[in-house]
Amino acid sequence: MAELLFRENPYLKSCEATIVAVHGDSIELDRTVFYPLGGGQAGDTGKLGPWRVLDTRKGPAGGDSVLHIIEPGANAAAGSKVELQLDWERRHRLMRLHTALHLLGAVVKAPVTGGRINDDKAHLDFDIEMERLVKDAIEAQLNELVRSGAATRATWITDAELDARPELVKTMSVAPPRGEGRVRLMEIPGIDLQACGGTHVANIAEIGTLKVVRIRSEGKRNKRVTLELE
Ligand SMILES: [Zn+2]
Repeated sequence: MAELLFRENPYLKSCEATIVAVHGDSIELDRTVFYPLGGGQAGDTGKLGPWRVLDTRKGPAGGDSVLHIIEPGANAAAGSKVELQLDWERRHRLMRLHTALHLLGAVVKAPVTGGRINDDKAHLDFDIEMERLVKDAIEAQLNELVRSGAATRATWITDAELDARPELVKTMSVAPPRGEGRVRLMEIPGIDLQACGGTHVANIAEIGTLKVVRIRSEGKRNKRVTLELE
């Protein structure tokens, strides 16, 4: 199990770590700043020692096991110390777009059926009628929220507390990370509160201007709203 440094501080760009296991091109470390693909958010990329990290995934054991997928042919060995370096510009875009989806979920008042955050764009799918999704209105409301400049806040509750408050699970298809007895809540005071294990910016002003680039039907219960950063 790795110590997941991004949970307490998503702004950490590098750290030292020890390789605890090597499975082919997948490296496990005792600690990491790399976020593994999950909750719709893409896995991080960057450098591990001299090697490029192409992707980051959760390990098959689940929990806090993280696999750093490095370039083929690297000769990494268990026990060695390495320097980790995030591709920070990409991660920061992921953080801005991820936090933007929390705003989108607050602006569009409908059940969320799915979502995805890539480094160039992000989307949520809503169970809603197409005619209720007005591109210009959504974009204007999003940017008004961004300009309000609210600080985000992470807190923790127990699995039992979460079970007692099902309204905190907003995205039906993405279960919040649990299993260690506690779940992280992400709060944007006055705007949004939900269980979420992803990485977020400290203040929503950091997102910058948002564009609604597309609204499209992806099925009866999936009306997809796609955002980009300006
Ligand atoms: Zn989130």
